[in-house]
Amino acid sequence: MMKNIKLWDKEFRISYPSSEIKKDVETMAQTLSRDLADENNPLFLSVLNGSFVFTADFVRNIEFPCEVSFVKLASYQGTETTGTVNQLIGLTENIEGRTVIILEDIVDTGITLGKLVETLSRLKPKSIKIATLLFKPDSYKGTAKVDYVGRSIPNEFIVGYGLDYDGLGRNLPDIYTLV
Ligand code: 5GP
Ligand code: MG
Repeated sequence: MMKNIKLWDKEFRISYPSSEIKKDVETMAQTLSRDLADENNPLFLSVLNGSFVFTADFVRNIEFPCEVSFVKLASYQGTETTGTVNQLIGLTENIEGRTVIILEDIVDTGITLGKLVETLSRLKPKSIKIATLLFKPDSYKGTAKVDYVGRSIPNEFIVGYGLDYDGLGRNLPDIYTLV
């Protein structure tokens, strides 16, 4: 048995080991590479902070030339979504006529994603694809189709592999679930 870890006041148990994450990230990236092989100058847009680890692994498995950029749109505090979504910051590329692939660490209610898709749509991209490592289907209330999912998970709070609990846990190679 693996030992549980403690971050601040809370205990977490390992639920998605790095070896499985690696396999799922590779599979996703291969599928996307096949689907989008003929796109002209696609742009990967990674949503900070949580997606930085996933993005680094994911784009190294992409098999066509591509640009990678980072944006921020924070909406989360502690273990519960606040429902408040801030503005999109950090987008410097012109996305008009381009295929944009949003890279998310996790899609929960979909509020963040919906806001991002709405904002990006106004900039007239050719299309917007969505790739997320983790997806909570029971929590999702969005309308956007999530095109690529690494793993669907129950409606529980998780940390690790870029995801934090009040700032801690992003550095963990494995993913953990709140006990
Ligand atoms: P949504 O807007 O889809 O409800 O939530 C999106 C954001 O909330 C994610 O990008 C992530 O930052 C955060 N989030 C949602 N679920 C979890 C979770 O289980 N653990 C952590 N650490 N963050 C989460
Ligand atoms: Mg995120």
